[in-house]
Amino acid sequence: MRVAIVGGGAAGMMCAATIAEEYPDVDIFLLEKNASLGKKVIISGGGRCNVTTGIEDIAQVLEKYPRGNKFLQSAMHRFSPIMVYAWFEAHGVPLKCEDDLRVFPVSNNGKDIVAVFEDLFEEKNVQVLYKHNVQHITKQDTGFVLSLKDQEDLEVDNVVMALGGQAYRHTGSTGDGYDMIEQLGHTITPLAPSLNSFLTKESWPKTLSGLSFQKATIFVYGQKKKYTSTGPFLFTHMGVSGPAVFALSSRIAFLEYDKETPLDIRIDIFPDMAEEKLLEQLQQTRETSMQKTFKNTLPHLVAKSFAETVCQELNIPLDKKNADMSKKELSRVAAFVKGLPLQVIGRGAGDEFVTAGGVELSEVDPKTMESKICPGLFFAGEILDIDGYTGGFNLQASWATGNAAGLAIGK
Ligand SMILES: Cc1cc2nc3c(=O)[nH]c(=O)nc-3n(C[C@H](O)[C@H](O)[C@H](O)COP(=O)(O)OP(=O)(O)OC[C@H]3O[C@@H](n4cnc5c(N)ncnc54)[C@H](O)[C@@H]3O)c2cc1C
Repeated sequence: MRVAIVGGGAAGMMCAATIAEEYPDVDIFLLEKNASLGKKVIISGGGRCNVTTGIEDIAQVLEKYPRGNKFLQSAMHRFSPIMVYAWFEAHGVPLKCEDDLRVFPVSNNGKDIVAVFEDLFEEKNVQVLYKHNVQHITKQDTGFVLSLKDQEDLEVDNVVMALGGQAYRHTGSTGDGYDMIEQLGHTITPLAPSLNSFLTKESWPKTLSGLSFQKATIFVYGQKKKYTSTGPFLFTHMGVSGPAVFALSSRIAFLEYDKETPLDIRIDIFPDMAEEKLLEQLQQTRETSMQKTFKNTLPHLVAKSFAETVCQELNIPLDKKNADMSKKELSRVAAFVKGLPLQVIGRGAGDEFVTAGGVELSEVDPKTMESKICPGLFFAGEILDIDGYTGGFNLQASWATGNAAGLAIGK
């Protein structure tokens, strides 16, 4: 049997590895348009590659996928985060689970993850066809013909589409798969960037660029449906970012917002403290240093740079003494930091981590990843209408679906 796997990213590599290890008689062609494998894997997690999650309970893991969680159930049980962890360690890459339950190679080097596959493909004679850009796929009575840019056609019995989404296009995933898959009879759901930072209308976040918070709660204000997200957060030169922002961006991936119709958000930088308690603390601080300026005592509660912004945004003169601060003004400060009002006018251009949307899941068998429309055609990874939050969940979905497709093809 001859199998073509299109796309040498996380999903394609895991699919090829699974077939090679489980079914040595299958001829595997892994077609990658780049001159190397796993470009996105290597840069993932800031180059450290957050391979999977340390969360062991599958139900909890599945909650981390705003799209595709039900579909993933079977594949995730068969190749769970624990099994992925064990798989990489068994293939010579020691992993570690950090306090926030993100799993990385001990070396903190994503290249080690890709090297596992390169070594395995050499050992198992997987034919890795670099610089092979698949342009079109034709279904025949038996099998498929792959048309390639500047190369001869390739005939195979089965095809796995693992071309990724269309985020970080310079890594090779440029959304090529969508048209080809539609031509084979499948539906592609609407696509949108996900796991992105927010650009804000206000320019004051820029002055705080780099200032980060361990925990903040962000909520979309004034929406009928309430979206919230809690986690680490930071100001950037264009707006706001960090895991809490990414998770929120994922939940609202299909909401439209721009300069004309901005999205109102509020950020609570004291999510674990009630507003009354915060006000109490502000009053106590005020009373202990009446002759100091308010701006200089506020850093008891917030960063110094932020204290100045708070005063400016609330029109509190920077030289105003605590003694002159009224209770009403302190209440305004407490309300402000419990709900920093910002208007989101866009997504950080091209900086999203994943694409939400993809191959319509009802058209794919969740156990085998095989098309219900075009037998012999399989899917794996981000090309499917599956995406997760940050924390190793997107790679985990790619490993799990790649493994499921590989096991099914060999059978
Ligand atoms: C900056 C960044 C950091 C990330 N960090 C993490 C992280 O730490 N943890 C995590 O879980 N997720 C992370 N993600 C998301 C994760 O990397 C992806 O979801 C995952 O790599 C998707 O795997 P894939 O195999 O489906 O697609 P990809 O990894 O995108 O692979 C698709 C491959 O197909 C090839 N291809 C495309 N078109 C063709 C064609 N026509 N012919 C031949 N080949 C083709 C591409 O060149 C590419 O190599 C990150 C994403 C980004 C952008």
